[in-house]
Amino acid sequence: NQKFIILLQPHHPLFHSFSFLIGFFFFSCLVLGAGPCGLRTAIELSLLGAQVVLLEKREDFSRNNVLHLWPYTIIDLRELGAKKFYGKFCSGTLDHISIRQLQLILLKVCLLLGVEVHTGVEYKGLIEPSGDKGWMAKLQPQSNPAASFQFDVFISAGGGRFVPDGFKHKEMRGKLAIGITANFINGNTAAEAQVPEISGVARIYNQKFFQDLLNETGTDQKSNT
Ligand SMILES: Cc1cc2nc3c(=O)[nH]c(=O)nc-3n(C[C@H](O)[C@H](O)[C@H](O)COP(=O)(O)OP(=O)(O)OC[C@H]3O[C@@H](n4cnc5c(N)ncnc54)[C@H](O)[C@@H]3O)c2cc1C
Repeated sequence: NQKFIILLQPHHPLFHSFSFLIGFFFFSCLVLGAGPCGLRTAIELSLLGAQVVLLEKREDFSRNNVLHLWPYTIIDLRELGAKKFYGKFCSGTLDHISIRQLQLILLKVCLLLGVEVHTGVEYKGLIEPSGDKGWMAKLQPQSNPAASFQFDVFISAGGGRFVPDGFKHKEMRGKLAIGITANFINGNTAAEAQVPEISGVARIYNQKFFQDLLNETGTDQKSNT
């Protein structure tokens, strides 16, 4: 119980020295959500020596939304073996990947490291320690074996606006932005047929283009697809 309190209070004087000294070797961690953030967190905790259980309410990975990858993310994923697990990783004209592919790469690493992954199980809340039992989670279905897992550290990576009860939510949002979507009729011309897979430009790939746009028009854009 005390371990849990120290780890969840980064301002605690013992927090840094404690985790540097012994790593996470004696810690059991519950991670909620097998999105990219939950999976990557599970890998990191596992590399630090923790016992990790990961919960995911979906039955399978089916999201094909395409994510742009930052250069440092690509380096990180390559170091985890992305190029071996998925030969086409970052081989196109733009550095991007579908969420599903990213999840599968990270899932493989998790499984290789011994992370226990449970799909089709929803986190419903925390159960406080009592008697000789430590922190546990209320799950749906309750019969899932992870319902008896006792943990020292709980990390929520439920995505979007999901915030577990009892935790505060702090958003690190940038300035408010306006998104404009314009649909054009496809005239099936030769020029249109040559439009690349993702026809847009993003600030991370062409900073000069966006700076010129800002100087000329006063519009500060993140991407233009
Ligand atoms: C079309 C599109 C394009 C996008 N492009 C980009 C981009 O270019 N770059 C970018 O960074 N982002 C982009 N995004 C956003 C992208 O979806 C997120 O960046 C990414 O998925 C966030 O990962 P995450 O792990 O935080 O959350 P998620 O991927 O949302 O994962 C959270 C997981 O937690 C699970 N979960 C939630 N609640 C529970 C619960 N109670 N119990 C158990 N499991 C639970 C969910 O099922 C989910 O699998 C895009 C999104 C869309 C729709």
